[in-house]
Amino acid sequence: MRILITGGAGFIGSHLADRYLSEGHEVIAMDNLSTGSTANIAHLAGHPRFHFIKHDVTHYIYVAGHLDMVLHLASLPSPVDYLHYPIQTLKVGALGTHNTLGLALAKKARFLLASTSEVYGDPLVHPQTEDYWGNVNPIGPRGVYDESKRFAEALTMAYHRYHSVDTRIVRIFNTYGPRMRLDDGRVVPNFINQALHGEALTVYDRGTHTRSFCYVEDLVEGIVRLMASDVYEPVNMGNPREFTVLEFAQKVLEATGSTSEIIFVEPTDERTKDDPQVRCPDITRARTLLGWEPVVPVEEGLLRTAAYFSDVANRRG
Ligand code: UDP
Repeated sequence: MRILITGGAGFIGSHLADRYLSEGHEVIAMDNLSTGSTANIAHLAGHPRFHFIKHDVTHYIYVAGHLDMVLHLASLPSPVDYLHYPIQTLKVGALGTHNTLGLALAKKARFLLASTSEVYGDPLVHPQTEDYWGNVNPIGPRGVYDESKRFAEALTMAYHRYHSVDTRIVRIFNTYGPRMRLDDGRVVPNFINQALHGEALTVYDRGTHTRSFCYVEDLVEGIVRLMASDVYEPVNMGNPREFTVLEFAQKVLEATGSTSEIIFVEPTDERTKDDPQVRCPDITRARTLLGWEPVVPVEEGLLRTAAYFSDVANRRG
């Protein structure tokens, strides 16, 4: 197959590129490198079935030749990023999805929207099932991300219904692993970097918020299965093992063998405004329809991720 991955130099996109290349497919990675990095795809330079196009998907997309699949991963998924780049966040979710759907229609390609657990907002149903419509504040700082992804889902279903585009929607819950940006501000890079450098782990508020963490390799397996299936309804993908942020900080200390202390901080910017109090996927649909569930324990995933972060830190000197 010939596969376009937007956000292909990003964290998840670059792992998907590796996976499809390893199966013998041709991969075109498209990225404007705003949060993605050529370091994530440097090992693919010169690969005969890999191509990179530097392009911003909020502008018209031109790709020569046929495409079998378009996977739209381009996004600014970190709360800190979408505080800094609210308009770009809205544009990549809305205009970027419109352009990539138009491309999939023109090429008769199967389309994947990388959606998010943020469509559930600060959820009133727990764990979250796909038929829950969510609790989103449209005008809060997270609204730029949440609403752009909700719009993107609506647009994807409209192309599915009106243009018969063969679409898939994955709602990705917190995912972590090698190639996350060290400074993206999310909890996994923050805590691991703090632990590795002997700095205090910064738990926001009282650390009672819950999240669950899926290792990237598990997510990639789930997306590949979804793309090979005929499931066009949204599918949650994440690890159903739930932690409070405080428990997770302790897990990071254990995994890294760090003696850092844990401190409670109140961020002065809006990064914790509308912070979902709980988040955990119900993955019954993925289990039933795709036979998928995560297999990498968080203890193991954290070890691998910490090894990656310390390697990057060493290379930077
Ligand atoms: N968080 C924290 N300390 C940090 C970074 C994040 O306590 O240094 C908390 C944050 O308030 C949230 C959770 O960890 O409750 C997950 O935040 P993240 O930014 O990773 O992404 P989110 O799941 O909110 O999209």
